[in-house]
This record gives sequence, C-alpha cells and structure tokens, in this order.
Amino acid sequence: MNKTRLEKLKKTILKKETLVFDQLNKNQKSQVSVFNENYKTFLNAAKTEREAAAQIIKRAEEKGFVDIETLLTKKSSKQQKIYKIFQGRCVALAVLGKQDLASGANIIASHIDSPRLDLKQNPVYEDLSMSLLKTHYYGGIRKYHWLAVPLALHGTVITAENKRIDITIGEHPDDPVFTVTDLLPHLAAKLQENKKISEVFEGEKLNLVVGSLPLGDDKEKDRFKLNVLNLLYEKYGITEEDFISAEIEAVPAEKARDIGFDRSMIGSYGQDNRICAFTSLEAILDMPPSHKTAIALFFDKEEIGSEGSSGAKSNFLEDFMSDLLSVSGRNTDNRSLRKALINSSCLSADVNAAMDPDFKEVHESKNAAKLGFGLCITKFTGVGGKSGSSDASAEFVGKIRQLFNKHKIVWQTGELGKIDQGGGGTVAKFLAKFGMNVLDCGPAILSMHSPFEISSKTDVYMAYLGYKAFYSDHD
Ligand code: MN
Ligand code: MN
Repeated sequence: MNKTRLEKLKKTILKKETLVFDQLNKNQKSQVSVFNENYKTFLNAAKTEREAAAQIIKRAEEKGFVDIETLLTKKSSKQQKIYKIFQGRCVALAVLGKQDLASGANIIASHIDSPRLDLKQNPVYEDLSMSLLKTHYYGGIRKYHWLAVPLALHGTVITAENKRIDITIGEHPDDPVFTVTDLLPHLAAKLQENKKISEVFEGEKLNLVVGSLPLGDDKEKDRFKLNVLNLLYEKYGITEEDFISAEIEAVPAEKARDIGFDRSMIGSYGQDNRICAFTSLEAILDMPPSHKTAIALFFDKEEIGSEGSSGAKSNFLEDFMSDLLSVSGRNTDNRSLRKALINSSCLSADVNAAMDPDFKEVHESKNAAKLGFGLCITKFTGVGGKSGSSDASAEFVGKIRQLFNKHKIVWQTGELGKIDQGGGGTVAKFLAKFGMNVLDCGPAILSMHSPFEISSKTDVYMAYLGYKAFYSDHD
C-alpha cells in the first residue's frame, strides 16, 4: 500500500484523541476563561449542598424559572421554566418542551454534596486548656488531607425555639478559621512508621481546635469549653443542646484558584461534583424551549450512597415528573408517569479520575481519562466484575457519541482505574431503574476527594457545551 493510501486508511479506521485546546478557535478560547471565572465564583459560594442548592435557585430565578409549588394550584399554566427545591438540599430545574412529557425528557443528573467533616451532635469539649469540636467525616476522605489546613464552618442550626440560624465562619479574610492538628515528624516515627495508613489516621482524632481562652477564673470547671459556648451564644444565640439539631460542616477555607503558569487549570474543594452541577446548570439556563423537555437534577447524599430523602434513591424525580405532568395539563396517572420516565434519556453527570503522572500504575492507560481531553464517557462504573454498575447499552452510547460528534464536542472514554484496583459508583443506576437510558458523562479530575481537586478549564467549558448539545437533542 502506498503512503498516501495508508495515511487515508489510518484516518478512517483509527480512533483519534483530541486535546480540547487544539480544537478551540480564538473566540472559544476567550469564552473558556470567562466561563471559568463564573465557575470559580460558584465554587466559592457553594461549599455545601445547601449553599449549592441556594445558588442554583438564585441563578434559575434570575433567568425566569418559577417554583413549581406556585403553579400546582392553577389548573393549567403556560410557564415553561420551572424549578423544585426539596428540603433545601436537592433541586430540579425543567424547561418544558412542545412535545408531550410522556414521550420522555432529556435529563442531566449531578450531585451537590462533597466529602467533608461534619460536626458531631455533642461536639464541644476541652482538653489541655483548649476548646475543641468533635467531627464525623462524611464521604470517602483521605483523613490526612484534613490535618493542619485552615477550615471554615458552614451550616444550619435549629434552636430549641425552632429558629433557624445559618452559620458561615472562616470565609471572609477577617474571619478566624479552624484546624485539625497533626503530629510533628520529630515524634511521629515510633508511633506511626510501622502502621497501616488506616491505622495512622483515626476518625476520632479529626477534632477541630476552636479556642484556647477560658471564661471565669481557674476554679471554674470546663471554663475553656464554656468560653466557646458563650461566644456562640453571644453571636448566634445558640446553646450546647442546639448542636443536636444542627448540620454544621467543616470545609476547606481556601478559595478556588488558577493552577499553573498558563492558568490552564482550576484547583478547588468540591469540584466532585459541583463541576457537573455548574456546567449542567449553565446549559439548562441558556437553553431556549425546545421540542423535548429538559431536566437538570441536583442530588444530595451521593457521597454516602445516594441514601435518604434528598438522595438519588429517593422519590424526588418521580414527584417532580408527576408535578410537571400536572402543571402542563397532562394526565398524571401512574401509567403516564412511568411512560415519561421510561422514555427519558439521562446523562449521569459526575467526575471520573484523570490519569495522574505520579500514580499511573492504578490506571490502565488505554482506558483511562486524561486532563484536557474533553468530556469523559464512562459506559460502566462499579467494582470488580462491574459489580454495582448499571452499564449503559451500546445503543445509547452510540447515540451520545453521534450527538457529540455532530456538535464537535471533544470527548474521551475512561474507566475508574485498573480492574480490581478499586472502583466506585454514581447516581446512574438509581435512574436506570426507571427503565430510561443512562450514561455516565463528566470531566476527569485529579486529586479527587481532596480539599484541592484539579480540573482543566477547557474540560469545564467542554462539559458545558456537551450538556447543552444533549439538551438540544430531540431524536
Ligand atoms: Mn461524584
Ligand atoms: Mn465523589
């Protein structure tokens, strides 16, 4: 075969790998940086699931979305942009299409909770003339990430009088921060060197240092604990018992930052999975009413198994779908609801692990995602022999692939690590149970679940374009 024919053949039969940067034109490159400035602002304002939910609603209302509760009382409504918020921690947005909802919607589902340290219900104590708060970690953390770094407290307290108090301390430059102490290397060897990593870092030692001044004289018992409680009482009117009915989260106090001489990456807490929440939010907000209904779901509790009333295993989607049928004047019987669900298509928008130059050995390079190479399609997740995965069909992967190619979306594929190396799951299977097609699809990041996760700005922008293309699809 001559050289020209061989080159032509290679172009036809070999799979190409595209760096997003190489494909973007000048105008798109400048959009990447504007889009990512907004993304950083979102990350800084949305460090907890409640804050993310509030930010999503704020943006949606600015764009003319209305609360579905205000529409349900009316017989029929012309309103097409609708939202629902549940328990302040779980959100759905919809742009109703011209087509009957019973023929299905295009759904993008992400989650807005991230790993962190939650305060225990009886957190306040003192030791060695210091006041401390006990925590219980949430989600899959590497415990050592949380030692000797500045932490902020974000949360909500319901008082004995049923007053709701929102707390944020540690975000303003003048605010104090909190921290978990670490052992000095000089004294660590004997205690830690022959231990397993799981034994070196204990959950019960993730206690926050929150003060070192007493209240009252040295005859006073527990006067360091008392001082902290008094400061909280003065500022917020809360008492020790109020922590029982509180959700207070310790999160990294740092802001999202550009990484690199070229500022090509973003380093921030909570990118798993607010990267997908933000990009799918912007995609649905920018969407004109189309043929098919578009839905964006933002779930809570994914990091602890999608459990609970605000997680993806709950009935939230069914309730929202049923409400949508109702406000659009359609039949709301069980059969119509089932049809609307089974006829829907869904992207489970969550991050995958990008291959790490320092830890290539946990990946299988032919099937691992790379930073900067676009949206990552993950046909299956799970552990071992795909256990716990919903495994998308060839037909649906084919459909998304064709759609992305048509819209010049740069995409890649990725498995979460080598076979039997570990693994993980997403909300995909909890949506697939309704019979709808579901495919995992999101950017790949580095240092996942750390307080400083890394994403590529071009991948963030490509996720937005990819999700927008999915919403516009009506085949
Ligand atoms: Mn995730
Ligand atoms: Mn995660």
